[in-house]
Amino acid sequence: MNDPYSILFEPVKIGPVTAKNRFYQVPHCTGMGHLHPQAEATLRRIKAEGGWGVVCNQETEIHPTSDLSPFPEHRLWDDNDLPPLQLVTEAIHEAGSLAGIELAHNGYHVANQVTRAPILAPSDAVVHGLSPRQARAMDKSDIRAFRQWHRDAARRARDAGFDIVYVYAGHRMTLLHHFLLPDLNDRMDEYGGSLENRVRLLREVLEETCEAVGDTCAIAMRFAVDEMSGSDGMQAAEEGRAVVEMLAEMPDLWDVNVSDWSNDSATSRFEPNEGYQNPYIDFVKQVTTKPVVGVGRFTSPDMMASLVRKGVLDFIGAARPSIADPFLPRKIEEGRIDEIRECIGCNICVSCDNLCIPIRCTQNPTMGEEWRRGWHPEKIAPKVREDAALVVGAGPAGLECAMQLAKRGYEVTLAEGTGQLGGRAAREAGLHGLGAWKRVADHRIHDLQQRANVSIYRESALTADDIVGLGIPNVFVATGARWRRDGVGRHRRKPLPMAEGMAILTPDDIMEGHLPTCGPVVIYDDDQIYLGGVLADHLSVAGHEVTLVTPSPIVSPWTENTLEQTRIQKSLIARGVRIMANHAVTAIGASSCDVACTYSGAETSLPCAAVVLVTERQREVALFDALQRRQDADGTPFRTLELIGDAAQPGLIADAVYAGHMAARNFEGDPDEVARQIFSRELIDLADKDRPRR
Ligand code: ADP
Ligand code: SF4
Repeated sequence: MNDPYSILFEPVKIGPVTAKNRFYQVPHCTGMGHLHPQAEATLRRIKAEGGWGVVCNQETEIHPTSDLSPFPEHRLWDDNDLPPLQLVTEAIHEAGSLAGIELAHNGYHVANQVTRAPILAPSDAVVHGLSPRQARAMDKSDIRAFRQWHRDAARRARDAGFDIVYVYAGHRMTLLHHFLLPDLNDRMDEYGGSLENRVRLLREVLEETCEAVGDTCAIAMRFAVDEMSGSDGMQAAEEGRAVVEMLAEMPDLWDVNVSDWSNDSATSRFEPNEGYQNPYIDFVKQVTTKPVVGVGRFTSPDMMASLVRKGVLDFIGAARPSIADPFLPRKIEEGRIDEIRECIGCNICVSCDNLCIPIRCTQNPTMGEEWRRGWHPEKIAPKVREDAALVVGAGPAGLECAMQLAKRGYEVTLAEGTGQLGGRAAREAGLHGLGAWKRVADHRIHDLQQRANVSIYRESALTADDIVGLGIPNVFVATGARWRRDGVGRHRRKPLPMAEGMAILTPDDIMEGHLPTCGPVVIYDDDQIYLGGVLADHLSVAGHEVTLVTPSPIVSPWTENTLEQTRIQKSLIARGVRIMANHAVTAIGASSCDVACTYSGAETSLPCAAVVLVTERQREVALFDALQRRQDADGTPFRTLELIGDAAQPGLIADAVYAGHMAARNFEGDPDEVARQIFSRELIDLADKDRPRR
């Protein structure tokens, strides 16, 4: 036990149950839920194994009028939903942690697309997502029914083995929150109007949940104290505080945050500092005697211990830090602080929920693969017969591959062509707003530097001859990809006509420090993922006059998945970046760039001195091809020759890390087993297909 942090390992009582320490994995979605119950249970078991005193599940629909489809969250409509949840509680208990369940009725936040049930809300309203169906104001019988559903769900949650049952009023996502918010509740009865009235339903549900299961389960109140929209929404300094004061002693625990989800799960690009929610939630402990949990991408044990000592928090809440490193508590407990894999705040995990797919993480390639591939974040099989491996390229794929091979016990040689380790992770981290992404490289470089079985060579751009000469029989080629310079991309599959004289730059040029020498600058973002918007920001901060041209109707459309799109577009507008959406570049002249509307074809000429083309990447495969030719010509100089990461398939940094991990894990593995893993899925059992429908 490392003394300064012993305070983090004190047990804390939460109503009738006791958490073994102060590490609290708050509810977070996994894209698994009721569709992938075994995968979900295994993921949560690993969190418990990693030392989190409390491990919660995710939003759990309490009734068919709260049908989140197509998002696969959890479900507790009736007793048929108990077995998948029992799997989760058993898995968490097995490792000695408390299990929490986030009961939710999502009110007007759902469109009930599968159930086609009525959409319920405090007042008539269009639903939150784009849907032609509107929500209807609940009458008194709807309110009575909802209260009964919540009581029933609480009892079922207890029967499924949960220790902590949530009453959830947050993120603008639940009915209980909708009743609190004046812009969503214009009722004239005792449930609308004054704050006292708007709190009424929440108070009733809290009381009834306590009555239903409060003798055996702790009742947690999840509440967003501030909507981060100033006087247009609920504010911590005013009604947010008043709500906590009114209900202060009713729940056994307060789980507090800010709303909506994009504010709560803000990325490091917009909230670079750990603990960014503290100024909003730090009043809560002054108002209640009950334990308080808060979040804010906590990864530093010093900050965690200080928040507990200062009386800001009783529990260190985490969703993303627990995804990036499920073993964070154990590492602190065992004094292995430098081994913590810190979250980089990129929200790739969040994007998976928005895409309705199982969770992935940039920093933790095992996330979401615990059941399907049997991957454990801290364990990997030892080496088999081979002794040595060479990894060429020290980007995220090469670094992860080298690190995992070294963990397995191989003699690892890592060669990097430039003087800098980290590849695109280090390069992109140099762009404005992406500084935290450097952690992808830093974590792995630090690990590799501690290992006696690793030799790292910088400034070593290897040729096929060099590699054959080294005589290492197992070679992993992670040479990455470079951005195209010819304009071929999503919108246009032929090179752009270009006149002599214009400065043509790629993202690689900018990342390598070759900024335009004069302006104005046109950035052509036909990639439409995230980098075009980042570069517009970077160049405008550097003082350039920037026009961003994109065939998309919005800037960086993919970042809607990471909850950043609105902030990105807002911040570019605020910086004075001119945005030409629905436009494609058609030709580049010596001092201007021709663009055309993607709908009408109407052409405009933009005077500029430089054009940055963010369109598509080309794989760097020359070395790999040469090695393959040598192998074909000379017999078999290599027992393993594998292309990995962006060189094999350009994608996200998360994809490159995953590819590096996979290559190291499968090296000398049973190919049949590896093939089987990709077919692992949870199949619908038709054994009882002839049973009458209920
Ligand atoms: P990935 O995302 O797949 O890891 P990156 O582009 O981030 O790919 O990293 C690839 C790394 O490989 C870069 O740092 C690049 O300098 C390095 N590299 C490319 N060719 C060679 C080579 N022949 N020898 C050594 N390093 C190389
Ligand atoms: Fe953190 Fe990114 Fe991993 Fe999410 S995907 S946990 S934000 S590192």
